[in-house]
Amino acid sequence: MIDFILGLGMAVEMFTNGSGISADFARWLYARRVRVVLKMNTFDPALQDRLAGRQGAAGLIASALERLKAAGYPSDEAFLAISTIICRPNLPELPHLWCWLRDQASRPISKSLPPRAVPTRTRGFPWIRHLRGVFETLCQIDRERYGRVWEIQPPLVGNRCLRHQFSCLVTASGNVTPCVGVTLPLGNIRTQTLQQIIQTSPVLEDLRNYRQTIKGTCRNCEKADGCYGCRGAAYQITGDYLASDPLCWRCHAS
Ligand code: SF4
Ligand code: SF4
Repeated sequence: MIDFILGLGMAVEMFTNGSGISADFARWLYARRVRVVLKMNTFDPALQDRLAGRQGAAGLIASALERLKAAGYPSDEAFLAISTIICRPNLPELPHLWCWLRDQASRPISKSLPPRAVPTRTRGFPWIRHLRGVFETLCQIDRERYGRVWEIQPPLVGNRCLRHQFSCLVTASGNVTPCVGVTLPLGNIRTQTLQQIIQTSPVLEDLRNYRQTIKGTCRNCEKADGCYGCRGAAYQITGDYLASDPLCWRCHAS
């Protein structure tokens, strides 16, 4: 599949939990300059296994990282990132994890996720304060230690999601959804072409034109030209993919 995509002149970015990254496969990926994003949430093996829901997950990640490094990752030509969710159990070690990744030239990607058991209306929800604190701490570390300046806004630390301008998700069974968070089925590529689905989906149309369709605080926010928060969080927490991002602290200012 990777060779097929490369043959179409497109770049490949592969998100992986580390399964199947043998030494040979790591070298194969490096030779094709595949961008690799490895999922790792903590240094604590027991916690990693628990967060991944699978015993041995931490060992898989550690082996994959070792093999990718032996193959030449990360380098100027071969991008390696570590993707981390921000959740209550890993909050205390996130600054250390962030610096560890920066120091070895891997790109850290940290993303806020809705915590389990989310109240439907989250005004005053204490998690938002924790979340904002993490963004502020990592922002300060990047500015003072690495000379990287960015503004805090959810859901990605030091970055933003604008995937709905150019992207959708096709699952292994052919179902098409806007992204991993907006799990609304739009069609299936076994019965329609991807082009038909993309061109006729009112949901994708809404998301592409979010400046006209988004609701609440996100609609009038000064950052709205380059931010819509996480549409997945909005959908999973409120049921409305156009609602204001319930995990953004701006939506909870009293
Ligand atoms: S909107 Fe979708 S793609 Fe963007 S950060 Fe949220 S879940 Fe991920
Ligand atoms: S209110 Fe919405 S648009 Fe403004 S920063 Fe928060 S998520 Fe982004």
